Amino acid sequence: MTTSTVTTPRVPDGVLGALVDVLGGEHVLTSRTARFNRARVPAPFPVHRWRERVPDLVVLPGTAEEVAEVVRIANAHGVPIVPRDGGTGLTDGAVPERGGIVVDVKRMNEVKEIDLENRTCTVGTGISMLKLNEVLAGHGLIYPDNPASYPCSLVGGRIGTSGWSLIGARYGHTRDLVLSFELVLPTGRVIRVGDGGGRKVSKSSSGYQLKHLFMGHQGTLGIATEATLKLYPKPEAEFSPFWAFADFDSAHRCVQRLAHAGVATFAGAVLFDERKVEYLRRDDEAYIPQPADVRALVCAVAYGNEDEVRAGGTRLMRVARAAGARYLGDEISQGDWAARHDRYATPLHGRTRSGQVAPMSWHCEDAAVNWTELPAVRREWHAIVDRLRGRFDVFDDWGMFFYTSADTGVDYLTEIDVGIWEQELDDEAWAAWVAAKRDIAAVALRHGGSISACHGACREGEVDLVPLELGGGYDVMLDIKRALDPRGVMNPGKYGLDRAYGPSPAEPEGGV
Ligand SMILES: Cc1cc2nc3c(=O)[nH]c(=O)nc-3n(C[C@H](O)[C@H](O)[C@H](O)COP(=O)(O)OP(=O)(O)OC[C@H]3O[C@@H](n4cnc5c(N)ncnc54)[C@H](O)[C@@H]3O)c2cc1C
Repeated sequence: MTTSTVTTPRVPDGVLGALVDVLGGEHVLTSRTARFNRARVPAPFPVHRWRERVPDLVVLPGTAEEVAEVVRIANAHGVPIVPRDGGTGLTDGAVPERGGIVVDVKRMNEVKEIDLENRTCTVGTGISMLKLNEVLAGHGLIYPDNPASYPCSLVGGRIGTSGWSLIGARYGHTRDLVLSFELVLPTGRVIRVGDGGGRKVSKSSSGYQLKHLFMGHQGTLGIATEATLKLYPKPEAEFSPFWAFADFDSAHRCVQRLAHAGVATFAGAVLFDERKVEYLRRDDEAYIPQPADVRALVCAVAYGNEDEVRAGGTRLMRVARAAGARYLGDEISQGDWAARHDRYATPLHGRTRSGQVAPMSWHCEDAAVNWTELPAVRREWHAIVDRLRGRFDVFDDWGMFFYTSADTGVDYLTEIDVGIWEQELDDEAWAAWVAAKRDIAAVALRHGGSISACHGACREGEVDLVPLELGGGYDVMLDIKRALDPRGVMNPGKYGLDRAYGPSPAEPEGGV
């Protein structure tokens, strides 16, 4: 075994041996490869700084009790612990900003129970939705948490981020679909949160709603080890029409009329703006290019029993036609929707805006925004990225999309995709990107939105504005953190929570 030579703090004497005693040597990883593999997430970061965030050790526990023991050892020695599942989170949550021990829960990927009568299953939090649904298919059931990262994000990471699902308008998002879960608190205590005294109740009014507190905390309040999930019948039918529009405004009107149509099988609708359509047109290997007069696209999606989906689909088609939509045909509609989990690989096709071939990385900034505010947010966000592009060739604007979060169309997951030539990201370009991220978050807040609908808001730039979004709630967050994690070992450096243990750094000037 080798120990770290590139990170601080190095683990104190006794920690490595204690971990090996609990987990066995094969589940305590110290090699450079194992540690560097867990030093980052897909969100772009300057390559020359990767070594700043390498963990000292990686552990692969197999049970909740082993996780609890690891946490107790870390607590006793004041060593940071970072929970990690799929490592696909886009806000650096699983990045060990202070070194320490990465607790990778992928070995805990068992399907422990499928309860056919109550329509639940209980799983280890290291399982992916893809794997779980392969097992459930044999019973005619699905677990419908369906992010674009469906094959590679895992149930524990979905809890850690309070994830957003592409078909959430029909089935709900992670917080609605997870009924209860077991959690190792930052002190090593093991609890179960959820409604009712058991694992499988969906609604209780007793006491505090702790399930919600322990979701979306980015691993700062504990490690989920087992979850009980709500299951649905595997849908008989899927309908995913794509429509073209000559301008953004008509597409914007149409997407909301679809959400307002009251179709029970409606699972969501998404609008791609002109820059997004342009980007898709550039990548003729991955997309069927749309003619130049297509300036915006809308897709709706419906799931359910065949007779219901057929009737609902007829209505959605009628609503879209009345809103000026042009149907793009079955091939594009079915093909594009079928590829919804694969499309983020397209940056690897390697195009920059000036036509050079370069391995680009993809980054998205997301926010929750009301429908009425979407046109203004779109204008302001593109303007921010345009200014960035004007200064640095390493950034490109890959367009925006707007996706219903709920079945009523109240708010939309609003995302701008920015292409970044990560290898060329020097300190100056990084500082400009961080400032742009702060500006993007400020726009969302000014328009009454949230900094993030989906990924969380831990990264440099956006994180400065979290206290502004939460107001007095942020102080309560600090109190909770201090109470539950008295030594500050659980994923330190995230959400500015260090200030729970000492004087607050200056707040950003000027508000939003
Ligand atoms: C191509 C692509 C598409 C994406 N599309 C979507 C999308 O449609 N919807 C969406 O919501 N997100 C999306 N994401 C973001 C990402 O997949 C989600 O945030 C996902 O929920 C992260 O899961 P993970 O298993 O990869 O978690 P990780 O990245 O490993 O961890 C995420 C956070 O949760 C914490 N955590 C991990 N495991 C646990 C645990 N067991 N207990 C407590 N905390 C834990 C980590 O410390 C970290 O802060 C996408 C990402 C990519 C790369």
